[in-house]
Amino acid sequence: MSAAARPLSPLPPVERVRPGLWSVPVPIPSSSLRYVFVYVFETDAGPYLLDTGWNTDDAFAALCDGLTQVGTSIAEVQGVLVTHIHPDHYGLAGRVREVSGAWVALHPADARLITDRYEEPTELLGRVGAMLRRMGAPDAELASLQNASMPLRALVDVTRPDVLIEDGERPDVPGWDLSAIWTPGHSPGHLCFWEPSNRLMLAGDHVLPRITPNIPFHPQAGSDPLGDFLGSLRKLEGYGSEEVLPAHEHRFVGLDGRIAELVAHHEQRFLEVLGAIRSGVSSAWDIAGLMHWSRPWERIEGFMKRAAVAEAMAHLRALEVRGVVHEVRGTPSRWEIVES
Ligand SMILES: [Zn+2]
Ligand SMILES: [Zn+2]
Repeated sequence: MSAAARPLSPLPPVERVRPGLWSVPVPIPSSSLRYVFVYVFETDAGPYLLDTGWNTDDAFAALCDGLTQVGTSIAEVQGVLVTHIHPDHYGLAGRVREVSGAWVALHPADARLITDRYEEPTELLGRVGAMLRRMGAPDAELASLQNASMPLRALVDVTRPDVLIEDGERPDVPGWDLSAIWTPGHSPGHLCFWEPSNRLMLAGDHVLPRITPNIPFHPQAGSDPLGDFLGSLRKLEGYGSEEVLPAHEHRFVGLDGRIAELVAHHEQRFLEVLGAIRSGVSSAWDIAGLMHWSRPWERIEGFMKRAAVAEAMAHLRALEVRGVVHEVRGTPSRWEIVES
């Protein structure tokens, strides 16, 4: 069914999750995720937000309307915690601050990516091009893949954080005892938040109930993003959370079980990568072409294709760190299985 013919399913409602804590869905229409949940913490001083939505007039209007339904207003917002700098989470933060005077908080590892990613991307684009050649992207597709994320810049009102939040720190949200858990992987500075009195895990994009977050290899991602992600999953084990509040899809119970599924998923992906190399291909591009995707490889295009190859590359790097494969650097690099 084409996107135009598909009936538009309604967004979930604004919901009271717990006393004083609300979820407000903010639409992200051209994305299959459809919406991001902004969580609203009520305090005597005014509301505090976790994430914001991306920077379009429709999303901003939905956020303002959601806050009105909660019984407050955008102008009352005191602080904005941002889980990570992807446009659907951080894009509106600057605009919220402009109309409310709220502080904006990020982990430093994401804060330091803002200039190169959203303001002066020329040098980063050069590094993305080099990465794509290393991965084996064909010349005909190189330019379009290199620029594939540029349209996303329009969805971000670039702003500097007022507050930097490190692992284990407690953001200043009066009456709430939130603590930050640094969970790099999906983004180098991704933050989850633990809320102990209701035993809630606010998981951002790190753990979602049905889909697996994209873990891209990227010039801004550090040398082993998938290794980081798997370590960050283990970091969330054993909290005994009553419910998980993710940024997309829906709330769920059973965090440890979901973590085990995600770990098993990536172990399966490792086997796919090794199977592809054994079948005779050696570049990240060709390896990705033999992996299993939600649609046929030939039909994956643009940003999605770059994300797919970057994901194959992230698995290759994690396998290299484990001593299972070896990269023979070149254009493209050749990946070989280490014979023990
Ligand atoms: Zn994200
Ligand atoms: Zn997201």
